[in-house]
Amino acid sequence: MKIDIHVHSCYSTDSETKMEDAVYCAVREGIRVLCFTDHIDWDYPVDGLSFDFDVAKYEAEICRLRQQYKGKIDLLMGVELGMQKHLGPRYEKLLKDYAFDFAIGSQHLVDKQDPYYPETFEGKSDEEVFRRYFEELYEDIKAFHAFDSLGHLDYIVRYGKSGSRYYSYRAFADIIDEILKLLVRYNIALECNTCGLRKRLGFPNPHPDVLKRYRELGGTLVTIGSDAHKTRFLGYRFDTALEILKQCGYTHYVYYVKRSPKFVRIR
Ligand SMILES: [Zn+2]
Ligand SMILES: [Zn+2]
Repeated sequence: MKIDIHVHSCYSTDSETKMEDAVYCAVREGIRVLCFTDHIDWDYPVDGLSFDFDVAKYEAEICRLRQQYKGKIDLLMGVELGMQKHLGPRYEKLLKDYAFDFAIGSQHLVDKQDPYYPETFEGKSDEEVFRRYFEELYEDIKAFHAFDSLGHLDYIVRYGKSGSRYYSYRAFADIIDEILKLLVRYNIALECNTCGLRKRLGFPNPHPDVLKRYRELGGTLVTIGSDAHKTRFLGYRFDTALEILKQCGYTHYVYYVKRSPKFVRIR
């Protein structure tokens, strides 16, 4: 049974996938539970781009598809919130105003720049930018932690000038441990995001060493998501993700319905 709870549709500024196409392809792929987690990144700093959508319309479309595909797939309504320290109160209100099943907290910025654009790394070493990202992430979680799962913890290493060459859990263990301890304290899940497996990294985000460390520090909640922006990546390499989680000592992973975790045994 495949459960993909990190999926984008055209409600996200960076995806052109129609919701119905995603649902149709997910059923064909044998996915039993699908959660849309479109982007809301308020105050995104790159000119001309905005990550926001009409949540009422989003909810109505998910409800319609839920009826249409009843018995074939369970559809959930989630959101991926782009974290910045000052946005906490606004995001808390959003999560109260709508009946989301699941909320991912993700950091897509470092020092108000999107690392997707190479300028972020200009004049700086990869290590410097990676460290800055983790420090900012730590501060963001301290300021806002009303979400369910932390998305792609080491997202920044996807964009290093030298890829992940200067990255390992050990090299950043001090700050990564602090982040993981916050997750445990606030009962937040850690996501295993398989997108990294199709980028040049060759490992999911975060690296398996981080997934293992979260468990050592008392974390029990892990989620799995493809982060698909195109239908062909739905459920991408979930077999590998499950194998990694098993090797890290997990017996279950979770998905969320009405913001509450449902445990699924890893076979
Ligand atoms: Zn993301
Ligand atoms: Zn995403």
